[in-house]
Amino acid sequence: MTEATAKVPLKAPRINAMTVDVEEYFQVAAFENHVPSDRWAHIPSRVEASIDRILALFELAGVQATFFTVGWVAERHPTMIRRIVDAGHELASHGMNHVRVFRQDRPTFAADIRQSKQVLEDIGGQRIKGYRAATFSIDQRNLWALDELADAGFEYSSSIYPGTHPAYGMPEAQRFAFRVADGRMLEVPITTAEVAGRRMPCAGGGFFRLYPYALTRQFLRGVNRGDGESAVFYFHPWEVDADQPRVPGVSFKTRIRHYLNIHRVESRLEKLLGDFGWGRMDQIFLEHKAPAESGR
Ligand SMILES: [Zn+2]
Repeated sequence: MTEATAKVPLKAPRINAMTVDVEEYFQVAAFENHVPSDRWAHIPSRVEASIDRILALFELAGVQATFFTVGWVAERHPTMIRRIVDAGHELASHGMNHVRVFRQDRPTFAADIRQSKQVLEDIGGQRIKGYRAATFSIDQRNLWALDELADAGFEYSSSIYPGTHPAYGMPEAQRFAFRVADGRMLEVPITTAEVAGRRMPCAGGGFFRLYPYALTRQFLRGVNRGDGESAVFYFHPWEVDADQPRVPGVSFKTRIRHYLNIHRVESRLEKLLGDFGWGRMDQIFLEHKAPAESGR
């Protein structure tokens, strides 16, 4: 019996959103000076084997999730994309080439999101509603990006980290879902825990590897019961790929961030999938908010 069933919760446990950012291990922002994008096509791909392991984990746990997918990857792995969709998961956009939004001007961004939406819809055969910026790169500097996403037909974004981090963050943003672009779209920030008035990352990426699993679980329960909100958890296919080739020449800090506890992720995910209820972004955040529109 887990602690969840032993205690009487303050509020009913909620379903959380499970999300995967589908990209190759060499496409992360921290490696951009070591693996320039013009070399990507010459590096052996590892994403497909990791995605198949993730699909198996999700199937075993009976979980449906949202896969924010880089267009560059989708174009090279169309059958993998169809396996994701055929298993009942939601396909969503992670941009064409994993370029952070603050590195794009507005027309470039507008073209990129449209192209990524089209590529994913053509391959996956389902309408693309969601977008996640590379490395949570929408913040105070480029809130116009949310208007562009609404103009391009997206219904939600999950691109803002509402806290402080060395590489990203918008600490003044609300912690939970809020309407943007004159009410046309929903922004669902990455989940933070509030501890003694401070916002702590608690929903994936490097922190899932850094913290003991029990701390992640405690934070997520706090969000579900204390805040009464659904959490958004994220991880990457390269985080279940302990044997990925090491990128040479990167700094100690980057090495720690990328590889720390990578061999522990799969077993921690198994626990996480069992300890909470999980679902797709669109089903959690769009359907219950707009019941009148869900039948169209
Ligand atoms: Zn990413």
